[in-house]
Amino acid sequence: MTPARKRQDAVRAISEQRFPEPTIHPETEPAREVFGRNVFSLTNIRSALPKDAYQGLLRTIRQGEPLDERFADVVANAMKDWAIGHGATHYCHWFLPLTGLTAEKHDTFLVPTGDGQALVEFSGQTLIKGEPDASSLPSGGMRSTFEARGYTTWDPTSPAFLMDSVNGKTLCIPTAFCSYDGTALDKKTPLLRSIVALDSQAVRVLRLFGNERAKRVSAAVGSEQEYFLVDRRFYFLRPDLINAGRTLFGAKPPKGQEMEDHYFGSIKERVLAFMMDAEHTLYTLGIPIKTRHNEVAPCQFEIAPVFEDINVATDHNMLVMEVLRSTARKHGFECLMHEKPFAGINGSGKHNNWSLADDHDNNLLDPGHTPHENAQFLVFLTAVIRAIHTHAKLLRASIAGAGNDHRLGANEAPPAIISVYLGDKLGEIVEGIIAGNPAPGRSGGVLRIGMSSLPPLPRDDSDRNRTSPFAFTGNRFEFRAVGSGQSIALPNTVLNTIVADALGALADEIEAATAGGAKLEAAVQQVVRDNLRKHQSVLYNGDNYSEQWEAEAAERGLPNVKSSVDALDALVEPDVKALFARHHVYSEAELEARHKIGLEAYAKTISVEAQLTADMARTLILPAALGHQTNTANCLVSTKQARPECDASAAERCLDEVAGLTARLKTAVEILDSLRAEADKNGEDPRVLATACRDRVIPAMSDVRAAADALEVAVDDQCWPIPKYREMLFMY
Ligand code: ADP
Ligand code: MG
Repeated sequence: MTPARKRQDAVRAISEQRFPEPTIHPETEPAREVFGRNVFSLTNIRSALPKDAYQGLLRTIRQGEPLDERFADVVANAMKDWAIGHGATHYCHWFLPLTGLTAEKHDTFLVPTGDGQALVEFSGQTLIKGEPDASSLPSGGMRSTFEARGYTTWDPTSPAFLMDSVNGKTLCIPTAFCSYDGTALDKKTPLLRSIVALDSQAVRVLRLFGNERAKRVSAAVGSEQEYFLVDRRFYFLRPDLINAGRTLFGAKPPKGQEMEDHYFGSIKERVLAFMMDAEHTLYTLGIPIKTRHNEVAPCQFEIAPVFEDINVATDHNMLVMEVLRSTARKHGFECLMHEKPFAGINGSGKHNNWSLADDHDNNLLDPGHTPHENAQFLVFLTAVIRAIHTHAKLLRASIAGAGNDHRLGANEAPPAIISVYLGDKLGEIVEGIIAGNPAPGRSGGVLRIGMSSLPPLPRDDSDRNRTSPFAFTGNRFEFRAVGSGQSIALPNTVLNTIVADALGALADEIEAATAGGAKLEAAVQQVVRDNLRKHQSVLYNGDNYSEQWEAEAAERGLPNVKSSVDALDALVEPDVKALFARHHVYSEAELEARHKIGLEAYAKTISVEAQLTADMARTLILPAALGHQTNTANCLVSTKQARPECDASAAERCLDEVAGLTARLKTAVEILDSLRAEADKNGEDPRVLATACRDRVIPAMSDVRAAADALEVAVDDQCWPIPKYREMLFMY
């Protein structure tokens, strides 16, 4: 069967698709009962452990104390019994390697006894430490410098869970992945270190305000996940979607998203069935999914959980992506997490909502009610502003990737310029502080820090600026530039660390002022004002998509790093190395490794895309274009023979047009091939290779695409070999 025929068959089959059969049954299995069923939760742990072991584990989870070795076996045993009781046959140390995905290696609980029988066994030692032979995972050279082996260590602060499959369950134990000397080979270890750094600096600030009660401060995160769904029958006819996760060809459809009829529209039956199924599985994993809706682009959707502790939220987001992908397949969809699966319509991001709370659930980014609380709020707010301004390039580096470059600094938002949006009300207050003018207070009186209270600030207000990459939304910051397919671990590690650093610096300044005899209030007022003055250029409430902002940002000296290849360099700048060393989050070697891996990933992505572009052009699109010409030419010849008197100029012009485009395509493919081969010669140095990919290969790919997309709208629809945008985006 020709590819064109397969495409038509897919269109027919999808149009005849019947409603799906129900896969979940909320009447008999209410979500409340399902929630957390596959999690070895604190409740499960409490009922399974002796009191002292439970208390010990709780101290480990809540206060970060090392687990008493005596308890390790008890905990392991309870975990094993619970898992086997729920149908588990295997266990695995589940971790977040530097691929940005998750990794798991399964082992059975069975241990042969030598007499033809087997026992089930799971020791404390096995729970705490694993030795996966994961030498093929990227290490950016760290393995060869240190030791080939990597070790996984149990992270008790993220609960173990059961992964369901058709033929049984696997107990997954969240772990950190390090080399023997503790060098982090994963994304979790630095995140955990940054949590400690943030805790110590934030508690220090609370102590300045006389708060002796709070024992811990940690960040909470809620990540809104965007994704696309495509019918699998189309997906399998698109080698680019299968291998690159995005379409490398496709003419703009007559209707894209300009009608604005998809966002928040009613959700189609088949999609809703998929969403409910995915949510059901996520509930069993204890992931508090709250929101689902249609997104801006056709066949684009969003899922969002209620915010959780940052470490758990990071693991949970990996699970959300995994469950969306696997559930989609059950429903005949492919879930696309790529940042830009389709050109010309919106891409997908992940809004990372980030806030700070103490261990009594006080949100430190909530303005509060008393003047004292307000002063404290302003210190935390100022710290965030200072952090983002000082480390904008690092934050940009944390979301670098070939996929995200299609969004950042390209045709859509958020832009690569990192600025902070405060909203009108808070913006006015901050301006007042900077200018030294007292701002109007809650009761119409005047506001001076520590003397009066802030006017009530709108939370989740409607004038929210959706164009800002980093927006204050009433009691949290929303970092909107994270890519949909990226792990949130690195951006959050960076956020935690830069805010920890800024809090530490503000605490130093306040302490210095009070040591010099100033009252706390006066010291705070002075330090807040000085810092806001110094860092105000990062504040921007306007339209971040406008050209005017690009010019203004340049004048303000804000970095605008459009390409990830350049952005990644921030990871190895001296001030960044010093920052992470100061807070014990990354060593220099760990940063160098991540820089290298980022560049390698970029170059590999472009390389794969370039090869696919050339292959698809040569083996699918050129044959279709040539076939179309043969048909047209045959038609022209027979028309001229049968009716020499008739005007055949229209057919001739069609033929000329397609022949011209075909020649253009063929030349573009040849150029792409040669540039790709040339770029590959730079194989040794990832920076040089990635640069060549960006500057030479990507433009050559675009030329191939432009010619092919022009052919798509010129060639007989019956001959076109790959599903079109108008089909993939609207038929589901
Ligand atoms: P919107 O799309 O309007 O930004 P959503 O309801 O889709 O809002 O998502 C908001 C996200 O922010 C949710 O994941 C929510 O749990 C999270 N969130 C709310 N409050 C906080 C907070 N204090 N800290 C961190 N995340 C929060
Ligand atoms: Mg949302």
